[in-house]
Amino acid sequence: MNKKFFLFFILITFFKVYLFAQSSNVLAIRKYIQANQHAVINEFVSFLSIPNIATDSVNIDRNAHFIMQAMQQRNIQQVQVLYPITTKALPALYGEILVPGATQTIVFYAHYDGQPVNPAQWATGLVPFQPKLFNASIEQNGMAIEFPATDKFFDPQWRIYARGSSDDKAGVMAILNAYDAIVKTGMKPTVNIKFFFEAEEEAGSEHLFEILQQHTALLQSDCWIICDGPIHQSGIKQVLFGARGDTHVNVTVYGSKRPLHSGHYSNWAPSPPMMLAKLLASMKDDKGKVTIKGFYDDVAPLSKAEMKALREAPSIDAQLKQELGFTEQELPGVLLADAVNIPSLNINEMQSGNVGKNASNVIPVKAEAVIDLRLVAGNDWSRQQQKVIAHIKAKGYYVTTAEPTTEERNKFPKIATVTLSGGYNAQKASMDLPIAQKIITAVQSTIPEKVVLMPTMGGSLPLYVFDKYLHAKAIVVPIANHDNNQHAENENIRLQNFWNGIETVAALMMMQ
Ligand SMILES: [Zn+2]
Repeated sequence: MNKKFFLFFILITFFKVYLFAQSSNVLAIRKYIQANQHAVINEFVSFLSIPNIATDSVNIDRNAHFIMQAMQQRNIQQVQVLYPITTKALPALYGEILVPGATQTIVFYAHYDGQPVNPAQWATGLVPFQPKLFNASIEQNGMAIEFPATDKFFDPQWRIYARGSSDDKAGVMAILNAYDAIVKTGMKPTVNIKFFFEAEEEAGSEHLFEILQQHTALLQSDCWIICDGPIHQSGIKQVLFGARGDTHVNVTVYGSKRPLHSGHYSNWAPSPPMMLAKLLASMKDDKGKVTIKGFYDDVAPLSKAEMKALREAPSIDAQLKQELGFTEQELPGVLLADAVNIPSLNINEMQSGNVGKNASNVIPVKAEAVIDLRLVAGNDWSRQQQKVIAHIKAKGYYVTTAEPTTEERNKFPKIATVTLSGGYNAQKASMDLPIAQKIITAVQSTIPEKVVLMPTMGGSLPLYVFDKYLHAKAIVVPIANHDNNQHAENENIRLQNFWNGIETVAALMMMQ
């Protein structure tokens, strides 16, 4: 054995011993949770049985009480409700565990509100707030089964179906049970823990910044860990260092003042749906690239560590395309992992006239679309909106913000009403930060595969608020299975993901 190789061998051995030392904590947590499966699931199911739509403040309060009680039962300190001072908001919940000697403080974030539900869209027999156990996913022909007797185990492939099961009551429960498991197994967190549970995430986190502003001292920390969203599509745990920003542009184009017979007037009257189709089509070339002037100009280049992480991420594109049932992607040759690191323009909705049973032979009076702009580091949401407006103008449209007046109709050949929604920018933490490295090591200690590291998630979260109001980093460590149907009907969590999530959070609470 030559000297270099010997040194390498010693290093690897040390690394393995270190990893094992970490994993023994994880094994203890695993054993504890397995032995207490029924209690954990019972509490989770009771929690999921409380409706949690942000517009339903009565039930949101019931959820809040449930969580506060769960925190108190675990001897979590300083349990309290956080409100902003000037406005009305649904309660964010707080608790803390200060660890003697700990030099770092981590806030564990999850939200307890869920997306609105349309019960009619849920599979037969499923009711959004009546949790049901299935022996597999519905897509894999899973069937509803009874909860097992207390002397039987839960199969890790089983799933619980209910609104909030993965997004994000699983996050709340993983955090609380991780802490519980650490204490009950006689171990100790290595960091001060702050618990923060939000109630308005699915409603746009409208008051989050005011709550942070109002409680800056209480919420001081070294990092926020956001326990929300799905793990990597490969089934491997992932750490995401940011989220894309988001904003919308609403466009309506107009034809005649009243609907016209499509026989008497076609070839002559303007056709709003065709005008809109052309306008939207002009925003992208045949290769899926946005053609709006300057659209990609502000993008901040990825760091070396980020590029390396993207290269090392397992390829899931072929598997996903098959699962989702399409062959041709919008940007040919660009991997999904890379696609989310580029700003995007997507049509969320289009509407003009009627289709199906209500279809009729008319030339509709208008056509409208909602354009969704996702932003990456470097983009400014308002500037990105302005680029779209400039493009619409360059296509010959007179742009206004209201319904066109008769005077405007008589004057301008092409009119577009453009209204802008609010928005926020992307936010990213550097992968090279010492706290980021500790988080990666902690998550890595729970699995043999290499943790997937993503510079950003494709979706958007207002992570900028933690930076802006608390000067804190925010890193996302998700829990749920990627096929969890979050935000849609038949939301579910695979039990193995829930168990794994508890282990992940426990490892983070004991990070070295
Ligand atoms: Zn969520």
